[in-house]
Amino acid sequence: MSENIYVGVDLGGTAIKVGICNHEGELLHTYEGPTEKEKGTDTVIDNIVKYVRLIVEQSPYSWDQLVGVGAGVAGFTDLRAGVILLAPNIGFRDVPIRAILEERLGKTIRIDNDANVAALGEAWSGAGKGVNDCVCYTLGTGVGGGIILNGKIYQGFAGLAGEIGHISVVPDLEAIQCGCGKMGCLETVSSATGIVRMAVEAVERGDQTSLSSMEQITAKDIFDAAKAGDEVSIRIINRAAFYLGKSMAAIAATLNPERFIIGGGVSKAGDILFSKIREVFAELTPAPLQQGVEIIPAKLGNDAGIVGAAGLLLR
Ligand SMILES: [Zn+2]
Repeated sequence: MSENIYVGVDLGGTAIKVGICNHEGELLHTYEGPTEKEKGTDTVIDNIVKYVRLIVEQSPYSWDQLVGVGAGVAGFTDLRAGVILLAPNIGFRDVPIRAILEERLGKTIRIDNDANVAALGEAWSGAGKGVNDCVCYTLGTGVGGGIILNGKIYQGFAGLAGEIGHISVVPDLEAIQCGCGKMGCLETVSSATGIVRMAVEAVERGDQTSLSSMEQITAKDIFDAAKAGDEVSIRIINRAAFYLGKSMAAIAATLNPERFIIGGGVSKAGDILFSKIREVFAELTPAPLQQGVEIIPAKLGNDAGIVGAAGLLLR
C-alpha cells in the first residue's frame, strides 16, 4: 500500500476522535480517546499526539504515507497563525497548536473551526461529493454553517464567513434576541433551542397540543408529535423551515450554490422539515437562481468533522 493517507482530528470536550482518510475522503480507520481537559492544555496536546501515532501504528499504513494532520476546533482560531485563541470546551487559550503539533509530529498541520471542517467533510465525500459550490447548515443547539466555493472553505476577511445562524430573518415584531446580542437571527427560530422555546411558549399560552402533557419537551418530541398530526408541532416546524428557506433564498441570490446540505439534530425531523424548506425556497427565490439547486440532508453524521479535518490537507 503506497497511497497517501490523511489524518483528521475532531477535538471535543470529552473525547478526541481521530480518523485516517484516503485521497478520496473515505474514512478507513477511526480511534477515540478521552480529552482529559481537566488535566490541562499540555495533557490534551499529549493526547492528540498519542492518538495520532496510535491510529497510524494500528493501521496497515506507515508513518511515511501520512501527508499531514488536520484538526477541527469549536472556538475562535487565528487561522493564519495557526493559533487557537479561545476554545472553552477543551480549555484552550492562545495555544499555538499548529507549531506545537508540527514540531511533535513532524508533519504538515492544518486547523479550522468545527463548522467549516464539517462542511468540508460533506463537500469532499458526503452529500456534496462532486459539487464545487455548496452551503452547509448544522442545526443543533445553535445554527452553524460552512460555505464551500470552488471546493474550498470560504473563510472571509476575518475568518468568520459562514455564520449563517446569525442572518437576521425574523421580522421586527416577532423577533427575539439571539445569543449574539442581535435581534431576529435564524438561530432563534431554526435551532433545536429555538424550536423547543416555541413549543414551551405554545404550551404556556394554553394552545391545544399533545406536548402539554410532557415534563420536559425536546426537539425530538416535537418532531414525533408533528408526525402524529399535532397541529401546534407542525406549525412550529413549518416556522423553523420557513426561515431556513428564507435564508437560503438570500444565500442563493448572493452565492448561487449548487447544493444546500442540512445536518445536525434538527435535520432528523426529515421530510416534514425538508418539504417545507423546499416549498419556501421555491416561493422566494427567482426562477433562474433555483435552477438545478438541491436542498438535501447531510450524509456523514458525526464523522463529517474527522473527514473534513483530514480534507484540510488537500483543500
Ligand atoms: Zn445571532
